[in-house]
Amino acid sequence: MAPFECPNCRRLNHFEVRVCPACAFTLGYDPGLVQLLFLGDGATTWRDANGNPHELKVCANNDAHEICNWLVSIHDDTPFCRACRHNRTIPDLTVATVPERWAIIEAAKRRMFHTLIRLGLPLETKAEEQQHIQGLAFDFLYDPSAETAGRAKVLTGHDGGVITLNLIEADDVERERIRRTMGEPYRTVLGHFRHEVGHHYWSRLIENDPDELEACRAIFGDDSVDYAQALANHYAGSGTVWTNEYVSVYATSHPWEDFAETFAHYLHMVDTLATIGGFSMRMAPFPGPESHPAAAIAFDPYTASTDQLAAQMVPFSFALNTINRSMGQRDLYPFHLSPAITAKIDYVNGLIAKAAGRR
Ligand SMILES: [Zn+2]
Ligand SMILES: [Zn+2]
Ligand SMILES: [Zn+2]
Repeated sequence: MAPFECPNCRRLNHFEVRVCPACAFTLGYDPGLVQLLFLGDGATTWRDANGNPHELKVCANNDAHEICNWLVSIHDDTPFCRACRHNRTIPDLTVATVPERWAIIEAAKRRMFHTLIRLGLPLETKAEEQQHIQGLAFDFLYDPSAETAGRAKVLTGHDGGVITLNLIEADDVERERIRRTMGEPYRTVLGHFRHEVGHHYWSRLIENDPDELEACRAIFGDDSVDYAQALANHYAGSGTVWTNEYVSVYATSHPWEDFAETFAHYLHMVDTLATIGGFSMRMAPFPGPESHPAAAIAFDPYTASTDQLAAQMVPFSFALNTINRSMGQRDLYPFHLSPAITAKIDYVNGLIAKAAGRR
């Protein structure tokens, strides 16, 4: 996402900001206006950069737990913001380390919601559920058994619109251990959210639409193959061999996982390019056999074509990986966009555009 200006002093801030480091005013994010608002000294009214007042209040999760910097309309029938109103279960905050872990989880969740909202995707809570319109909810649970026994009882996953996330994923050591065990080049809390919400949108946009289901199967394969057996084969090493037609090894396990991995990848690309564009970064042309013209994000990534996204992702990700290596870090973007993967991303892009009423 693009950086956000403090509406009082114009300093650029991170999305998670609560107090502007430059002017010390309290800041909150309004997902409807897509901007930060501020509370002046001793003021109780949230104002934008022009000083206009807005009928907003802080999310109830900020009041109670100081865990959310989003604002919610005083006219909404819930005290929770657009992201927090989907929480069904929050962890036991009396357990040591849980509040810090939950804060990490919630920060990643808000980034995901920001992208979903910007893309114009439908977002219903469980209370708003109707026939064929599945609501989205989250169960955040803490099961530390994986840390000692190496086997968690609470597994991250999606079922019937409910995304379950084990708070051990907020722990860097544990997440890195799992990443290495699974042989993954990339594992983040934000990545989990983007993957699991991909399963939600498969149910929400594809499952009950016969034409869409057919179109999806033509790209990702027949999802009616036994899921449990497919996963068992995958973990036994007898599943589909990984080729550059799949964005990750895990995507080979079942068409549902391929879709979720591809959905997550589309969100990775859009948000990364929106950040690059938000800073107006530009790159000189590449020389050599894989030469590339000058790169810049001269479009809105949230509505861009897949060709536009892929054409910019290639040079910028090479530069970003090089920057990471300069700091001794792993590659920021440890993926290769093959034509087959790009075609799958294009299906997801078209699906989202249609759901958002853009196509
Ligand atoms: Zn400021
Ligand atoms: Zn909130
Ligand atoms: Zn999955």
